Amino acid sequence: MINKDKPQIPSGDKVLDIPEGLWTKCPSCSRFLYNKELQLNQSVCQYCQHHFPLQALERISFLADPQSFVEYDHNLLSVDVLGFNGEKSYEERLRYYQEKTGLNEAVVCGKCTIGSIPVFLSVMDFNFLGGSMGSVVGEKITRTIERSLTERTPLIIISASGGARMYEGMISLMQMAKTSAALQRLSQAGIPYISVLTNPTMAGVTASFASLGDVIIAEPKAMIGFAGSRVIKETTQQELPQGFQTSEFLLEKGLIDKIIHRKDLRSSLKELLYFLV
Ligand SMILES: [Zn+2]
Repeated sequence: MINKDKPQIPSGDKVLDIPEGLWTKCPSCSRFLYNKELQLNQSVCQYCQHHFPLQALERISFLADPQSFVEYDHNLLSVDVLGFNGEKSYEERLRYYQEKTGLNEAVVCGKCTIGSIPVFLSVMDFNFLGGSMGSVVGEKITRTIERSLTERTPLIIISASGGARMYEGMISLMQMAKTSAALQRLSQAGIPYISVLTNPTMAGVTASFASLGDVIIAEPKAMIGFAGSRVIKETTQQELPQGFQTSEFLLEKGLIDKIIHRKDLRSSLKELLYFLV
């Protein structure tokens, strides 16, 4: 039986099976992409420009000047304050994602230079529990904002998140207020903050720091919103416009300032930083 999700290359009468792990099927144009080539292309489909999710450390390597990134707060670890018990406990899930991603949490924070300009950088990783914001994600982002303020150094946050972390209940929701209040102090001090939204940026993250940038950039066709479109459709009982909750739709409506292709992101951030500092 032919597996449609696995690449098959016809060779004469035969269909050759290609070993898994070498190819990735593009969810947008359905073409098979050679993994090595995809990696060289910053995980962007060469045919339709679909932007695949990036790991936080990959993202940092594409943006920061070589060898310039110094990580802070790597050892802050989440605890199961609510004693959450579902199919798997919160602690089990944390351990699983720590092993899977090699990260301690869903955000990596630190300082680096971009085009020789010092900048504080927080990068979320959707692969870690859907990039959800619990107390540690909120605390790490807040500390990064506070360091930006103390050192009067610009801040960049790259978001990729499904929203607040349900395993931490109200404590995760409180991170919205905490990060927003810290950004208010940064804004009052006149320190620039650039927010970059990637696919997806949703719920509590969109409703807090992701939408508070002095400049808000998005990657092409990223899903950005608060509630999911199905919930909105059922609640409002209305047909949603085409392209609802995409970067392109939100640019048209004025929520974001610019859509930038991943390959141009570093040079655009560099230009913006030269302009802002
Ligand atoms: Zn594609």
